[in-house]
Amino acid sequence: MAFAPESFVRTVLGDIPAGRLGVCYAHEHVIIDGSFATCATPDFLIDDVECAVTELRQFYADGGRAMVDSMPCDSGRNVLKLATVSRRSGVHLVCPTGLHLAKYYDPGHWGNFYTEDQLAALFVADITEGVDAHDYNGPLVERTSHRAGVIKFASDRAFSGREEKIFAAAAQAHRRTGCPILTHTEQGELALAQIERLRSHGVDLRHVCLSHTDRKPDLGLHRELLASGVRVEYDSAFRWKPGQGNPTRDLVVALLPEFPDQIMLGMDAARRGYWRSYGGGPGLSFLLNDFSALLRAAGLSQALLDRIFVSTPASTFAFSPP
Ligand SMILES: [Zn+2]
Repeated sequence: MAFAPESFVRTVLGDIPAGRLGVCYAHEHVIIDGSFATCATPDFLIDDVECAVTELRQFYADGGRAMVDSMPCDSGRNVLKLATVSRRSGVHLVCPTGLHLAKYYDPGHWGNFYTEDQLAALFVADITEGVDAHDYNGPLVERTSHRAGVIKFASDRAFSGREEKIFAAAAQAHRRTGCPILTHTEQGELALAQIERLRSHGVDLRHVCLSHTDRKPDLGLHRELLASGVRVEYDSAFRWKPGQGNPTRDLVVALLPEFPDQIMLGMDAARRGYWRSYGGGPGLSFLLNDFSALLRAAGLSQALLDRIFVSTPASTFAFSPP
């Protein structure tokens, strides 16, 4: 796929031409520092730079070149660690701004109380100036030279007032900067409602990726989602239990020929138990090795696999003109 020469992806180490992103996972957790979320669930703590470098060097050796990190403001994000891991592993990393679900923050968190405009200003500054070294977790803000390249936010099983406000703030930041969007859907719920809201806020759906939608492996629903022009990310390939088959594979095989430029994959390996370098499995190379083999065995060509891993991430996570 050819890209306009000015089309770029904003990585933690700087802007790169979209065409040079390479094999990319669309929803990862490279670093999760100690935070409210990791206190509640210690397995979420993925804070070790050495482990990340080891795992990402293996990912690189297996052909991987880029990952979109998905821990937004004050939920364990650490932009300085992401920059170090990127430099040492050679893997391009995109750092998010935005806010996660309410359950990942203490009840007194600023995300619950700041206005739409105040939130948008914080997101825009992360994107245009540099991510705060303290991750917006205190009154002091020290901007680093590492800028955010995606806006990550979420809805739960029903839209709360907080989520409506964050959707509006994120859309505003997208319109002002052209920064692409990555959303969390809770077990694939409310994907159509997310699309409706983003469209009504004037967001370019070609630069929106909805995550975890394969948790609801309903072909009719997926066709409706994809017909909107939005992009989706599937990350349950290694999560299905014995006896469930692999609905993620089945979705890809059924939908990719129809919607070749809208489907991406990720591990969303937000637990240390999923990482080889922390002593767990299946490890972050799973999609490049085991799952790609499964897709090939199901008849998908290398050209189609390249759409999933290379050209769709490049076009989705490229900045659009503000
Ligand atoms: Zn995630």
